[in-house]
Formats: sequence, structure tokens, C-alpha cells
Amino acid sequence: VEGRCECNSCYGGPDCSEFSPNCEVDANQGDPLFLEPFWMMNSDKSAVLLSGWHRMSYYYDDQSYISKRLEKTIRKLHSVVGNAVTEGKYVLFGSGSTQLLNAAIHALSSRPTTVVASVPHYEVFGAQTELFESKKYDFLGQPTPWINNTKDNIIEIVTAPSNPIGELRDPILNSTKGNVKMIHDRAYYWPHYTAIPAPADEDLMLFTVSKLTGHAGSRFGWALVKDEKVYQRMSEYLELNTVGVSRDTQLRMLKILNVATEDKGRRFFEFGQWNLNRRWKALNSILSNSRRFSVQQIPPLFCTYFNKLKEPTPAYAWLKCEEEEGDEEKEVKSCHQVLKEAKIIGREGRIFKSNDQYVRLSLIRSEDDFKMLVDRLRDLVDREVESS
Ligand code: PMP
Repeated sequence: VEGRCECNSCYGGPDCSEFSPNCEVDANQGDPLFLEPFWMMNSDKSAVLLSGWHRMSYYYDDQSYISKRLEKTIRKLHSVVGNAVTEGKYVLFGSGSTQLLNAAIHALSSRPTTVVASVPHYEVFGAQTELFESKKYDFLGQPTPWINNTKDNIIEIVTAPSNPIGELRDPILNSTKGNVKMIHDRAYYWPHYTAIPAPADEDLMLFTVSKLTGHAGSRFGWALVKDEKVYQRMSEYLELNTVGVSRDTQLRMLKILNVATEDKGRRFFEFGQWNLNRRWKALNSILSNSRRFSVQQIPPLFCTYFNKLKEPTPAYAWLKCEEEEGDEEKEVKSCHQVLKEAKIIGREGRIFKSNDQYVRLSLIRSEDDFKMLVDRLRDLVDREVESS
């Protein structure tokens, strides 16, 4: 039915009301539907009505592909949140940060270039780079072998907070030495997912509404770029690839971001961070009874946006399965398999170039999915406690 919300993994039927008790709960997708209730509460304010004649042209009035009002709103958003410096930087729009990532690799590489990212990392970094099979660049995994390399052209993709662990990572390589360039993926650098210790001021930063407001389906992201030549090469890529970003999407994003930044974003970020902290605490309280399952530790950190010490609010749990007693004699199951047997679908550690002892569990899905996840985990841990 057009207009209704997305069905959750354990509900189906025309109005999502049919519950399947034996379903497999989806903790795999990083779809931030936890923000859907905020947009429901702000339904009228965030609605957009588009007349048939509106914005039919390829161009805005200044002959560009970028809405200047949206650009201004994005700059204001960063200054209100204090998570990135936009002064002295060009702004580019892309169909999600996925498109911008490739535009950035294209713009920064000169033949031949090695692309690297510390593990565990977002799988698209390798998959996309390999897909294009460019003569100019190759994805070669971990940055560590290139620490002392001052000859080769290298691009390091740094994600902070990282996906899946949520760490505020620093680059491994040194961009002041040799031909090392950086792409800073800042998809999760917002106060609902992390403390904001200081505004990021890197030469090439990528952001996306997918994680900021939850509008992953709108396919909208932006890049902040310092160097004019890099900006021009990225613009050229985006123009030849898709002739910019859908004008309809840009209009919707203007509305959405204006609502999110009302009251300096307080209501919006407070809603997001409160819910994620509640989820993180619920998960940890269940796992505190387990010797078999554990998750990453995240220390509280001072957040300049909330002006206080901020409790952890990660988007994902990086779950580790310890070997069970007697496992030495049995064939060891992957953590993904252990959870699948308990009807929980996470994302395998190996997808992030880690190992089978780990699974990523998404904590940003809808409330129904999260409740099912917590119930299933509680059953697993209860069984472990009973049998010990
Ligand atoms: N970077 C990271 C680290 C991500 O986790 C994601 C989405 N899961 C993206 C980029 C891509 O986001 P988008 O929807 O904007 O393409």
C-alpha cells in the first residue's frame, strides 16, 4: 500500500499486522528506521507537495545542478551541530555517499593507486573499487603494509565513527608523507551515534542523510572538499555519471533538514540519541549474564553538542561468540550460524574482512525489529545460563 510504513521482518500482510512468530528477525540491514517515529510525529511539517510543473529542468537558475538553498542549509546544519568545518570548502551532492565515494577515488587517484581501509570496514569500500576494475586503482585491504611507503600513490578511506565498531578512528597512514591521500567517511559523525569531541576539518569528508535523518531511500549525500582541483574532478565525475542528483530529492531534503535543524536540532538529536542509548543498555544488560557472547566496549566521551559526557549510542553491536565448552571436538559453528539457529540474522564478520567469531547486529532498525532481537537474544542467554 503506497504511503504506509515499511513492514518489519516479523510482520507481513497488506497492513503489516500479520505476525509470524517463527520468523527470522532482521538485524542485518543498517536501515535507520529507528528515526521513523520522529518523522511521524512531524508528519505535516516535513511533508512535500510537488506540482507537475515544478523543477522540470536539468538546471537551477544559476545553471548548476545544486540547490543553493540546500547547500546553505547543510552549511548551517554543520555549524549548529559543530561536527564539521565548512568554511573554505566546496560542497558537492551525490546519490548517497556511495556515489561520492567513487567520485572521490576517481578524483584522488593517479595511475596506479592503491586503496586501503582498516578492518573491520564497510564492505562497499572493497566491493565498489573492485567492481569498477579501473586501470587507475586497486583495493588492497589493510593500510598497515604501506606505513613506511613514500613512493606509491595511496588512498586511505577512514571511517569515524567506524562501521561496524563505532570507534572514532584516526588514519593509519600519514598524509604529509609521500603520495598518501585520505577520504574521511563521516556517515555516522552525528550526535545520535557518537559524542562530537570537535568539528572535523579534513580535506575530503563524506556525509549522508541515510544515517543522519534515516532517509536512505532518497539517495542523498554530500561531500565537503577543500582542494579546488579535487572538487572539479569530482564534479566532472558526478556530471558524467548521473548529471547531478534528482531535483525532487533535493527539494525533499531541504524540507527534511529544515525540520531536523529546528531548535538547533535539539529535539531531533535528543530523540535519536535517547533511543540508541536505551537500546545499547538493553542489549548490554542481557549480555551481562552471558559468558558466551560479548560486544565492543565504548567509553563515555565528552560531547560538545550536548555539552556533557555522552553515554555510548552506537549504530551497531559487534558481537563476539566465544567457543562453547566441548567445541574443540565439534565442528566450530560461525557466530552467524549460532545466531541464525536462534532465528537472528546478523551480518557475518567476514563481510567486514574480520572473522567468523564476529557478527554485526544492527541497532538502528525499527522498534519492532529491535524488540524481537532482544527477545531472541534473551532466550539464547537464558538457555546458556540454565545449561551452565
Ligand atoms: N559509509 C558507511 C560507513 C556506511 O555505513 C554507509 C551505509 N551503510 C555508507 C557510507 C553509504 O551510505 P549511502 O546510503 O549514503 O550511500
